[in-house]
Amino acid sequence: MSIIVQKFGGTSVATTEKILSAAKKAIKAQQEGHQVVMVVSAMGKNTDTLVALAHELMERPPAREMDMLLSTGEQVSVALTAMAIVSLGHKAVSLTGAQIGIRTDNAFGKARIISISTDRMQKLLDDGNIVIAAGFQGIDEDFNITTLGRGGSDTTAVSLAAVLGARCEIYTDVDGVYTADPRVVTCARKVSHTSYDEMLELASLGAGVMHSRSIEFAKKFNVPVHVRNSSVDNAGTIISTISEDPSRGVSGAAVTLDEARVTLTGVPDKPGSSNAIFSTIAQANITVDMIVQDAGTDGLSNISFTVPSSDLAPTLDAVQPIVEQLGIQNISHRDNVSKVSVVGIGMAEQSGVSDRMFRALAEENINIHMITTSQIKISVLVDRDQAMDAIYAVHNVFKLDKQNPDAVPAESQQATTAVDPAAAANELQGLEELSITEISLDSTQASISIQGIADVPGIAATIFEKVAQQDIVVDMIIQSYLDNSELASLSFTVDRNDVDRTLEVIRELESEVPFQQLSSNPAVAKLSVSGIGLRSHTGVAIRMFQSLAEAGLNIEMINTSEVRVNVVVDDSQAAVGLETLKQAFADVIQPTR
Ligand code: ADP
Ligand code: ASP
Ligand code: MG
Repeated sequence: MSIIVQKFGGTSVATTEKILSAAKKAIKAQQEGHQVVMVVSAMGKNTDTLVALAHELMERPPAREMDMLLSTGEQVSVALTAMAIVSLGHKAVSLTGAQIGIRTDNAFGKARIISISTDRMQKLLDDGNIVIAAGFQGIDEDFNITTLGRGGSDTTAVSLAAVLGARCEIYTDVDGVYTADPRVVTCARKVSHTSYDEMLELASLGAGVMHSRSIEFAKKFNVPVHVRNSSVDNAGTIISTISEDPSRGVSGAAVTLDEARVTLTGVPDKPGSSNAIFSTIAQANITVDMIVQDAGTDGLSNISFTVPSSDLAPTLDAVQPIVEQLGIQNISHRDNVSKVSVVGIGMAEQSGVSDRMFRALAEENINIHMITTSQIKISVLVDRDQAMDAIYAVHNVFKLDKQNPDAVPAESQQATTAVDPAAAANELQGLEELSITEISLDSTQASISIQGIADVPGIAATIFEKVAQQDIVVDMIIQSYLDNSELASLSFTVDRNDVDRTLEVIRELESEVPFQQLSSNPAVAKLSVSGIGLRSHTGVAIRMFQSLAEAGLNIEMINTSEVRVNVVVDDSQAAVGLETLKQAFADVIQPTR
């Protein structure tokens, strides 16, 4: 018999009335012949209320006690949901994370799932019960209650669907996944389909509709996820291997408001510097987000990165000793910044996506502090008070409110085959462990670096428009900005055959866009590690930096995304670099399904 997991978020179980309506949905699915597992969140804003209570007592409550406290929210709603089902004349049993057997590590507040036992749930389902599972919680080896991080009930739902070989429905307070947060961008449009990769990026870039780790599970175990409105019977959005419009350069936009930037200037440009910096930050349990490293000049490079604002103070504490140890000239930071990103799986095949984004921002007089790109996303860092204008500007320029009438219909797209639940169950051990699918080398690129450009709106737009006009496809772009100097630097890669033409374009632009120095490396190699959940496993970038440093390789450029970390090195080091990474990740590499 087929199993459906139905997850109801906080607003969808905010009152007993809403709980009854959720219960009816589950009963209906059961009557249609499915076995049903419900995953419920805490009622309404109950988790926030519990957090506030803890903070009335202390600023930084012990993480273990916090998890003990927060898990109670879901315990209330599972019991009430079971009662609602019983009151409607059906059989239901509620279970906490521990009772299901959701084993996690002991990272309180952001625990990762190690294994899930299905026996008890399956037996209850076979006995005709609707099983109601508490979202967002698990138990560690020592029987401590753990939580998976805010929004983590989505991850509970998708992981249960994965191990039960079930379909997954996510009921929430909007109609599905939109091109941007519909509460922020009023003209955002609901999409019919979105691919795992697009959703992974969007979720990690600020689209709070799905917990990003839930999409890692969905992708890893090929679980189709159907996001729907709990109060209106609409079509919703299917998250699977299929995209609404794979040809579209940009399919969604997102903003993360509370970012902080740290810039290290005058970093000795030698193997091991990035490793020393980022491994120290990782040891402090801080996840670094955008990382930008300039191609160095005079043996010194500049590294900028962002962290969540709330992690700024501990980050500065953590890097201070390294600043002294490496002899880094200066460290500066800025707290009032936000990250605005666009995502699209068609982006890699198109030229002219980035320059349209940069031009749209320039037209709103928005200055870009940092740029990072990956195959399927472009992120820029802007002043926080311009973040809303920025997301509107990019949403408009890519006409995200309009559907493309020529898009290949979802039905005609090639879906990858579903995963055999038995095979998924065999992989129960280490459910959320790192999974690297590919280590690759691209030896077709050259890098160009422009140092000392005025840091004013429109510079990136002007440069990349001119480059795109020549039909030159730009791959990686990074821009960093130095406090104190009002100057920015821009590095990017193009096909080796295009490097001379690109340099010419930039030289021709010099009167419009003055710069201090233009340099290029006609043959660089891009080494990439691809997999699932690379950002939440901060260790990936560190492991790359560390192994490359030990092999004596110097990294020229870095960029990161949810599904891939790329580093650019000189082409003469390509073969050694590839071999080094293969060895460094030998224990975690798994072929794609
Ligand atoms: P739940 O309590 O059901 O888990 P959440 O508040 O976690 O609900 O997620 C739903 C919210 O996500 C929506 O109300 C919406 O404001 C926000 N959101 C952010 N980005 C998007 C997006 N791209 N599409 C849909 N909703 C989004
Ligand atoms: N109740 C938890 C939270 O508010 C988990 C969830 O809703 O997904 O973060
Ligand atoms: Mg949620």
